[in-house]
Amino acid sequence: MPITIFSHKKAFLLSYLERCEVLEYYTNVVLTSPRKEFPAPLVIRIPVLVRHWNSASPTRRAVFIRDNFVCAYCGKLVKDHNATVDHVVPKSKGGKWEWENLVTCCSSCNQKKGGKTPEEAGLKLLYKPYKPTGFQMAVSRWKTRMNDEFLKALEIYAPSTFLPSNWVLP
Ligand SMILES: [Zn+2]
Repeated sequence: MPITIFSHKKAFLLSYLERCEVLEYYTNVVLTSPRKEFPAPLVIRIPVLVRHWNSASPTRRAVFIRDNFVCAYCGKLVKDHNATVDHVVPKSKGGKWEWENLVTCCSSCNQKKGGKTPEEAGLKLLYKPYKPTGFQMAVSRWKTRMNDEFLKALEIYAPSTFLPSNWVLP
């Protein structure tokens, strides 16, 4: 099961210390020391039980990362400073601070929505909020730094998390 994503340098260290099994190496990324070059690990397997990421109560930032900083109502990319977290079912109507009720929202949609439900405010959700797995969060965090080889490995080793349907945006 894919658990997380970290840098190839850390992966190399784990393989150098024989703490993991390397399943794939990059063909075009090498690590160099003054005397030697080493292929960079692309996919590794760690034979230990990994504690699962606990995503019980999300932080604001975690909601933005899950949603790739895209407003759930208008589809606009929002910058950190004017991103807000919206309660889909408003707090005043019993909506809770939980993954399934929180979405990233730009400030103008947030103003339109206020304390209303999306229907009352005439807004439509572009994607359904969900509780992400730790690996989905890792994919979102690393998305901008993935190269082609990494994306290919992601398709092979983590097909179910590769571009989750919730990512499909207008
Ligand atoms: Zn918006």
